[in-house]
Amino acid sequence: MPPGAGSHPGAPRHLVVVLGDQLNEDSAVFDGFDVGTDLVWMAEVRAESTHVPSHQARTALFLAAMRHFREALRDRGIAVHYRELDDASASTLGAALAEDLATLRPQAVVGVRPGEYRLVAEIGDAAGARGYAIDWREDRHFISSDAEFAAFAHGRRELRLEYFYRQLRRRTGLLMDGDAPAGGEWNYDAANRAGFDAAGPGLLAPPRTFPPDALTSQVLQLVARVFSGNPGSVAHFDWPVTRAEALLALADFIRQRLPLFGRYQDAMWGGETLLYHSRLSAALNLRLLSPLEVCQAAEAAYRAGRAPIEAVEGFVRQILGWREYVRGIYWHAMPAYAAGNALAAHAPLPSFYWTGDTEFACLADTIGRTLDRGYAHHIERLMVTGLFALLLGVEPRAVHEWYLGIYVDAVEWVELPNVLGMSQHADGGLMASKPYIASGRYLDRASDHCRRCPRDPARATGATACPFTTLYWDFLERHAGRFERHPRMAQQVRNLTRKTDAERAEIRRTADALRERCALS
Ligand code: FAD
Repeated sequence: MPPGAGSHPGAPRHLVVVLGDQLNEDSAVFDGFDVGTDLVWMAEVRAESTHVPSHQARTALFLAAMRHFREALRDRGIAVHYRELDDASASTLGAALAEDLATLRPQAVVGVRPGEYRLVAEIGDAAGARGYAIDWREDRHFISSDAEFAAFAHGRRELRLEYFYRQLRRRTGLLMDGDAPAGGEWNYDAANRAGFDAAGPGLLAPPRTFPPDALTSQVLQLVARVFSGNPGSVAHFDWPVTRAEALLALADFIRQRLPLFGRYQDAMWGGETLLYHSRLSAALNLRLLSPLEVCQAAEAAYRAGRAPIEAVEGFVRQILGWREYVRGIYWHAMPAYAAGNALAAHAPLPSFYWTGDTEFACLADTIGRTLDRGYAHHIERLMVTGLFALLLGVEPRAVHEWYLGIYVDAVEWVELPNVLGMSQHADGGLMASKPYIASGRYLDRASDHCRRCPRDPARATGATACPFTTLYWDFLERHAGRFERHPRMAQQVRNLTRKTDAERAEIRRTADALRERCALS
């Protein structure tokens, strides 16, 4: 029987699928929405919190934002068929949709492509099994489209952010003065690499936070009960869960932190979770904010003289540049991308990633705060937890699953290219030209962690060897053949060959022992 033919009287015309990261009322799924005959479908299901072990705050954020969105739609007179976690007989989105299609029997199903490859198939198959082909509508949240990225990628062996970013600057007119980049330069990276001096960042204005209201509090209790075995907790939950709150968070960032965002974007400091970062990724990824409006708000601060160009360009580059670019890579390269393991890394993820219980100060501090909050800023993700896993040679899939589960802002389209491509070089250089590797000396320069650590960042061997320094040389040793002719890596490999054979053998022994200890930990 064709879809719709069996619809009973009162059956919806369109069943409009809204997923937990699609909470924008200007979505194309609402184009032509008829409040008299159309029905929104939303579902909370356990599998989304368990297919990788999801931080309790991550699950809570999605469910709290979904329930607030449901209420906002109902206030507008829109009917919502909403499955709460406790009611759900089906544990996956596909099974829940299939069940509801059988009872609701709409004439058609409308949606916007999910943020995860797995779900495109799961939801499409569930609808297909009931005789429906989903009407996938254009995704208007993003600034670029699949077609634009495909045209950019066509014929290129390696993809680089800079060209795509400039293309988007020109097309949107963001930070442009006519045909020229605002301020005269496309890129202010050189002005954006400051660290803090020995006194540290000083007193930082606390970010605007959002204490849970009654609806969110219900969700926090639910999550703490149902997912008590999952990592993290909801104890510190203070994320924006509505568009109104997200706009307040945006205004707070623009006023308090944007002016110094650029200068300190690569800096780290023990115990300091946010520094000058925006804390907007979760609101962006849930679509409570649009990337264009966030970039425009930053540009307005520059034009009004409230933030310098290097800060605003640095910030716009993250959203207009990196965020759009990684999404382009994800849809361009999936599904093969997820299996990438170009450096043949097979070590298990050390168990301290789930506890923060390690003597290495930078890892203990970063992982501890990440488990507390479900958040760490970019450089901590890339150059502490990511770098250690890369140097140790952890299986990229295990690294990916940790990042996907543990961060409140994690959705696969953005998490996977950052982890597999940028952080682990598992895509062989498709996304970033070289692996981001560094020794403990880099961490010493960029943060105060080494001051509190029993290990010495200058030492690769011996009882006080820094694991990053040992593993840095060991990484070069293991991958010398691959990188000795690489234009941006050859110098690092040459530095290795200046060590004596005895030194190199001792580094290998120290690294093997460390790897064994991490595997057993
Ligand atoms: P800010 O530093 O204030 O940056 C502003 C915004 O720019 C962010 O909110 C984000 O939307 C965007 N942005 C910045 N860097 C990137 C980037 N590399 N890729 C895409 N967007 C970017 N981001 C996620 O949203 N979800 C993830 O699951 C995620 N996983 C990551 C894993 C690793 C290993 C790495 C290295 C990066 C990851 N990122 C991820 C990117 C980035 O670290 C976070 O977006 C950022 O730390 C979020 O904090 P913020 O909002 O304070 O960002």
